[in-house]
Amino acid sequence: MDQQKIGKFIANERKEKGLTQAALAEKLGITDRAVSKWETGKSLPDASLMLELSEILGISVNELLTGERIKVDDYKKIAEENLLEMKKKEEINNKKLLHFYIIINILGFLSLGAFIGIAVLADISWLLRSIIIGLAIMVFGITTACCFKIDHDAGYYMCPNCDHRYVPSMALITFAPHMGFTKYMKCPKCQKKGWHKKVLSK
Ligand SMILES: [Zn+2]
Repeated sequence: MDQQKIGKFIANERKEKGLTQAALAEKLGITDRAVSKWETGKSLPDASLMLELSEILGISVNELLTGERIKVDDYKKIAEENLLEMKKKEEINNKKLLHFYIIINILGFLSLGAFIGIAVLADISWLLRSIIIGLAIMVFGITTACCFKIDHDAGYYMCPNCDHRYVPSMALITFAPHMGFTKYMKCPKCQKKGWHKKVLSK
């Protein structure tokens, strides 16, 4: 996606509509600095704003993502290209999140081991020992909760039976039996139980 091109396109269409940056920003409930950033190609509009922005400018989301008006013939091809690129971006993002998951998970176990090692081996009072074990459990609990949250937010799980891709509930993420990023769950679509694998995009 060409941010510069998209920025210029937004600026042009905004002027055609007779809107100032401030007026456009107000319609969207954001700052005019954000609009200026889009128009200079420094950032892309948030996905959540794209539909509303396109409506205000009288263009399609597809045209917004392409940075130009699209002839009807080219429409389908360009729509597919844009979808593919959005998908790629999502996959890269999710991959980063899952790497982060692994790091946090390892840190959680290392700190649990270190704390318990200290509590068992160090020549300290029972009170101090209990405090250290309490801390160990707390740190481990926090890192584990972070991992569950990432597992929930990054990517989808795929049913091996019907290929349905979905985001399981936090309860399932927490309690379903798992091996790495594969979980034993019931498919919400075909209702069959099985080992569902993590996938990076829909
Ligand atoms: Zn299924």
